[in-house]
Amino acid sequence: MIKAQKKEKGIARRLFRFLTPQWKVILLATIVSAVASGLEASIPVVVGMVIDILGGKENIMTEILNHLGFGEMPSSAVNILPIYILTLIAIVGLLSYTRTYLLSMVGEKTVVVIRERLFRRLIRLSLSYHNRIKKGDFISRVLSDVSTVQDTANSLKDIIHSAVMVIVILIVMFSRYWFLTILTIVTFPILVSIINRLSERMRTAGRNLQVKLGEIGAYLSEILSGIRIVKSFTRETYEDSRFKKINISTFRARMKTVKVEALLRPLMELCSGLGMVLVFWFGCRSVMSGDMTTGMLMEFIGLVMLMYQPIRSLGRVNTMLQRTIAASERIFEVIDEPEEIIEPEIPERLGKIKGRVEFRNVSFAYDNGRKVLHNINIEIEPYESVALVGPSGAGKSTLVNLIPRFYDVSDGSVLVDGIDVRNVSLNELRRQIGIVPQEMILYGMTVKENILYGRLNATMDEVIESAKAANAHEFIMKMPQQYDTQIGEGGVLLSGGERQRLSIARAILSNPCILILDEATSSLDVESEALIKEALSRLIKNRTTFIIAHRLSTVVNVDRIVVMDKGRIVDIGTHNSLLRKGGLYARLCKAQLIS
Ligand code: ATP
Repeated sequence: MIKAQKKEKGIARRLFRFLTPQWKVILLATIVSAVASGLEASIPVVVGMVIDILGGKENIMTEILNHLGFGEMPSSAVNILPIYILTLIAIVGLLSYTRTYLLSMVGEKTVVVIRERLFRRLIRLSLSYHNRIKKGDFISRVLSDVSTVQDTANSLKDIIHSAVMVIVILIVMFSRYWFLTILTIVTFPILVSIINRLSERMRTAGRNLQVKLGEIGAYLSEILSGIRIVKSFTRETYEDSRFKKINISTFRARMKTVKVEALLRPLMELCSGLGMVLVFWFGCRSVMSGDMTTGMLMEFIGLVMLMYQPIRSLGRVNTMLQRTIAASERIFEVIDEPEEIIEPEIPERLGKIKGRVEFRNVSFAYDNGRKVLHNINIEIEPYESVALVGPSGAGKSTLVNLIPRFYDVSDGSVLVDGIDVRNVSLNELRRQIGIVPQEMILYGMTVKENILYGRLNATMDEVIESAKAANAHEFIMKMPQQYDTQIGEGGVLLSGGERQRLSIARAILSNPCILILDEATSSLDVESEALIKEALSRLIKNRTTFIIAHRLSTVVNVDRIVVMDKGRIVDIGTHNSLLRKGGLYARLCKAQLIS
């Protein structure tokens, strides 16, 4: 329990640290709040005095009014009162506007910084991490968890104002009626312990709720990306019931937080009621015994009521703060995720590479510890084209993923131009490696923007040149807005062949020294395939190329073919030499009817 509390304090402290760069604005808003509270607290004081003047008593107000030249005491005081109150309300309103604006800005800026930090971290985390997390859960962290933090950030104005107001009113009360003030605050410890108890329950309930919201996000993203499967198996009703389950359990988690929130108010009312009754009883007796005037009692009760309102607001904010702590925990989890692919402290300079790649005694296992590559040794010369072939699961993709350091070897080393990839900066390394993945990953932007993704500072002429080399220019020019045509999310508005050619244009523009090409498995019509083949042959020229080949007909012309099986290299050679040997490659060719 103590450990958990320490952790929560740590989280709260970290959240607080996000505010420190804006301390000047916070200080200004606090001063504005203090002035407004002082002015508000003066209202019951003045009302109390007027009541006493009505009862024929003299006090500072009569003195001041006399000094200012007002005679006819009760009626002057009664006339002055509404003017005084209205003027104060106007001034307090103006101050409240300033405070709300300033503190809301502080809160919102903090949320922007947190969201940015979260995104920066996410996009830099390794592929292993991305394989582990559920995308929807992450989206929910960016949206729902951050928005919970936002709620509290929004309440910053209330927190600061309420705290300042309670302090100011207490000072006023103490300076005027210290004994009654002590009576008022005897119930405070009970109040604090109630709030503390509820806080604990709120934190747990809040944590559960955020997890459930994450589950909804994860489920939705999975369903949306697999919507075709749902439809083709007509599983809509089945998915309805799966969603219903998650939805209801989220509802239950939410209701638990509501229960705590709802409990807070009556308990706080009870406490404040108790304090009030004590004050009223003692105050009335003091009036009866002549120790206090009616006006004084009214003034004091006015002050107490004025103070309970910010106290209630602090209690409410506190439960919100507990949910925020739970949400922040999930945010910090991502921000604190340790880096798996570590940049060297003093990187070796790689410079412009020639493209020699060597795998030296390389073994590799994913997080689950099962070895999927065993002692791989191979050297690939600059400008060489190498096809990786082998049955599904042989380790072809895993092997090439080690070159740009998407994963780090478990044993051995991968060298580019003779330098271990772990000793150079990731940016310098990856800049020189191009990847054309099996699933053509395009973004919901224009054609031009998609190609430019390969090299952001390329000129329009270079974009067009790449598109021409990729046999894409022609179909692009037939589109309604040509290079400015939007291609839909993931390029849904294009055909499979068009998507591939755009993807090739992007790779040509980036002009990498090492190219990794994961051949698409989906078959295209003959014309499309011919266009793509031609585009690929231009892309491959003058760079070291790894082709993960699924259709062996495409590898006939490469320099070398590496045959893999169960994480091992079982053969290396040209198409003809391997065919002659009659091993696994020959069997694979036979299966695909290639001779
Ligand atoms: P395919 O031709 O089907 O794409 P492949 O030869 O490229 O197969 P890999 O994708 O490299 O094979 O997979 C090699 C082995 O590693 C497989 O047994 C696979 O189950 C396993 N594997 C791949 N990715 C992961 C991962 N992220 N975590 C754990 N195991 C993985």
